[in-house]
Amino acid sequence: MNIADLKTTLDPHGIGQEMYRLISELYPICRSITGNGFRETLSIIKTHIPLKVHEVPTGTQVFDWTVPKEWNIRDAYIKNGQGERVVDFRASNLHVVSYSTPVHATLSRAELKGHLFTLPDHPDWTPYRTSYYQENWGFCLSHKLFLELQEDMYEVYIDSSLEEGHLTYGEYYLRGESTDEVLISCHTCHPSLCNDNLSGVALATFLAQHLGAVSRRYSYRFLFIPGTIGSITWLSLNEAQASKIKHGLVVVCVGDSGKSTYKRSRRGNAEIDRVVEYVLKHSGNDYEIGDFFPYGYDERQYCSPGFNLPVGCLMRTPHGRYPEYHTSADNLDFVQPDYLGDSFSKYLAVLNVLENNKRYLNKNPKCEPQLGKRGLYGAIGGRSDAKTSQLAMLWVLNLSDGQHTLLDIADRSGLEFDLIRNVADILVKHALLQECPEPEQSRA
Ligand SMILES: [Zn+2]
Repeated sequence: MNIADLKTTLDPHGIGQEMYRLISELYPICRSITGNGFRETLSIIKTHIPLKVHEVPTGTQVFDWTVPKEWNIRDAYIKNGQGERVVDFRASNLHVVSYSTPVHATLSRAELKGHLFTLPDHPDWTPYRTSYYQENWGFCLSHKLFLELQEDMYEVYIDSSLEEGHLTYGEYYLRGESTDEVLISCHTCHPSLCNDNLSGVALATFLAQHLGAVSRRYSYRFLFIPGTIGSITWLSLNEAQASKIKHGLVVVCVGDSGKSTYKRSRRGNAEIDRVVEYVLKHSGNDYEIGDFFPYGYDERQYCSPGFNLPVGCLMRTPHGRYPEYHTSADNLDFVQPDYLGDSFSKYLAVLNVLENNKRYLNKNPKCEPQLGKRGLYGAIGGRSDAKTSQLAMLWVLNLSDGQHTLLDIADRSGLEFDLIRNVADILVKHALLQECPEPEQSRA
């Protein structure tokens, strides 16, 4: 079975349901850029794919950065004068600012206020806040609850630790015919937040699982990393390997109801950029495409000038463009199986084009070969549009001069990529076409 077969047989609804189940399982875990929540998450992903877990010690120098101390948390609360937990980590891990240092103190309402974060514009939601690189502590709560806090003495308690330890990440490598790689990267460091980015974690997990079962032209590398510091760490420890990455996608925000959005790689005209644009254009759905900018997710690191890898970001609604972003409202209602399944299908469609986007040489280039005597008229069984197939054959024969890829031909002819690929296969079987070896520098 190859990826084209996988694409035709896979049920987007079913895969969306599976992704949603995994998101639900991972949702309660308190993740951060390091710590046991990250490890627990990887151990659950491991029940689907045999990924390798790496531990990088605190203090490791990674380019201009240093792997931070490891953070773990067991409990946290704010108790009022009556001893009631008015803010409780056990109810939601978003209540504690990620990387909060341990604290146990009794504070007045005024003293406490400086450590509290709320969203006055969305008084029922709890914000998500972090303080990775500046030692501090704090609580996040709904603005509604904040307004209810009376003048009182409050006991604040955060049972956390910030110590020498490790940065943990997961890596899954699938060897293909070629050692050229496709990178699929997702940040896995957010706590109870679904679209950003458990949706990406779920998509990467099931994509890896399904790709593992089909024949592959490319090798695939899946990274489950903490945002920013994770990609910097991987690039720093695998600098030589990075040049093998010929195409890549950062998977993020793929479960909301918005339209598909693609952020191009820094190169802007890499093969991955053209392929994603082609797939979205032919998806029948509304979509949006934008140029690279040095903000967002790990594409910032992959596309830094010292690497300049062809890595784009395929999402639905981008970060910061939905009010639920980085709040408690990015929950299990905000992502839905059908949107997850639709995103999965689009990723698979992109990989299908990448895997099959080859160049061919017409072996009978002097005038058209006589198709009729080879039984090639109406050769594509079951197709009612025999004329379209013949037209596709003529396009493939005409443009297969070793310079044009099948995507070039699909683009120029306006015909479906899968039809162009199908026709190329038939022409190869009839010895009218031959695959070109990949020119070494052509993909730069
Ligand atoms: Zn985020």
